[in-house]
Amino acid sequence: MTKRAYLQKIPVDITTLDSALKCARESVENKTNLHVVTLNPEMITNAKKNKDFANVINNAELIVADGVGIKIALKLKGINQERIGGVDYSRLLIKMCAKDNLRLALLGAKEEVISSLVEKLKSEFPNINIVFAHNGYFDNDDKILNEIKNAAPQVFLCALGSPKQEFFIYRLKEMLQGCIMVGVGGSFDVFAGFVKRAPLIWQKLGLEWLYRVIKQPERFRRIFPSLPIFLFESIIDSVKK
Ligand code: UDP
Repeated sequence: MTKRAYLQKIPVDITTLDSALKCARESVENKTNLHVVTLNPEMITNAKKNKDFANVINNAELIVADGVGIKIALKLKGINQERIGGVDYSRLLIKMCAKDNLRLALLGAKEEVISSLVEKLKSEFPNINIVFAHNGYFDNDDKILNEIKNAAPQVFLCALGSPKQEFFIYRLKEMLQGCIMVGVGGSFDVFAGFVKRAPLIWQKLGLEWLYRVIKQPERFRRIFPSLPIFLFESIIDSVKK
């Protein structure tokens, strides 16, 4: 059983990458839905301002600690939690799809990214069963939701960015049965080779966010001042408990 902690009233599950994968396998076996949120500090800041978004996160079956900020905030509460990156988790889910012949659906990123990702996956895993793939730039949500419903995926990776992907999954969840649904942010850009991931040493030092800011300076506005404020509020939160 996974333990659940709260950061500024937003839940996060204390778990490991292995246990998160085990949850995914169980959901396939039991034909139950599993919405996995890969939580980062920006999402907590957003959920505190947006009740609907907080509700979507609260309804997710599994909320994993993505982002080093979450790891630090948990540490302040005396909880040691490894970082479970959306990129790593979804890569393992893709491998599981290939191995167990599960139906995979992919939604998100630019057209050139998603089409080259599909080609890449097909060449890496010749047996992969991709039942749906579409870019993330569309107007008619209902049409896409219905297409995914008809494809009946067992694994659905949604790369629309947050909070769009979480709201989309929340709606889709009502329409599917037995599907693992994960919001994976910019992972498709990484998988397809359009964005380079930070070298391992940066990842190990918990500095992947800094690498991304250096590579894409426009990201600075997204983390500043919200990240330092989040960390400050996390200190206050941990003192209160
Ligand atoms: N995106 C999309 N549709 C949109 C907005 C964004 O498919 O309407 C995609 C975008 O192309 C990118 C991903 O969502 O691939 C978001 O990436 P970002 O780096 O912002 O996400 P993060 O990893 O920071 O959560």
